Amino acid sequence: MSDLLVKIAKQRFDKPSSQIVHFVDNEEANAILNNLEEYPHAYVLACLMDRQIKAEKAWIIPYEIYKEFGSFNINSLINISLDELIRFFNKNKLHRFNEMMAEVFYYGISDIVNKYKGNASNIWSGNPSSSSVVYKFLEFKGSGIKISTMAANILARQFRIPFSDYYSIDISPDIHIKRVMKRMGFVPFDANNDMIIYKAREINPEFPGIIDFSCWEIGRNWCRPKTPLCSECIVDSDCKKVI
Ligand code: SF4
Repeated sequence: MSDLLVKIAKQRFDKPSSQIVHFVDNEEANAILNNLEEYPHAYVLACLMDRQIKAEKAWIIPYEIYKEFGSFNINSLINISLDELIRFFNKNKLHRFNEMMAEVFYYGISDIVNKYKGNASNIWSGNPSSSSVVYKFLEFKGSGIKISTMAANILARQFRIPFSDYYSIDISPDIHIKRVMKRMGFVPFDANNDMIIYKAREINPEFPGIIDFSCWEIGRNWCRPKTPLCSECIVDSDCKKVI
């Protein structure tokens, strides 16, 4: 049963991806977030914002800053004071925790400048191990294991950044992934996120996060919340259909 899920994921991973990653419903914002050459810090800062609010609201924050301050160049961002950021976050209610996340944003910029010479892509350049990239994300203020593995997972799966291994890249249990893992019978219906993460590690230890590909596709296209289209689903033959 798990073999099919891994096989589908590997096929998707092996296909070259030229598509822009759709983080938010704003093409200009997506263009900035996808531009890892020029604005790798936009990606890092958006990941850091992705905490206890809807992803769409978190990922648009770098773009809101760009619109307000007129540039998203790291050398301009470093000149914005913490007070200015706190004021802007509060005034526009950018986050559920405005003061705290303004600080996370501020110290994120400062770490990128001081530790990575102003170039956030130094976090993932040079074919690093997955654990070293996850660890570097963990070092940012406000980042925990969930954000750090998500950040590494998107870099590996969506942006195809080369890593020397993928062992530390976990699944990111979003709503589609949880639903598919439960309905397929990999985990019980009351499974928590940790159980889903560890089950994915058991299924494909060398790259647990790759399973996001297949679960997400199945969840979006066939395994819909109210009306699962089992007879059309690509894992119909292997699914326990715990619905
Ligand atoms: S076969 Fe049905 S229940 Fe199983 S994953 Fe597909 S749509 Fe969901």
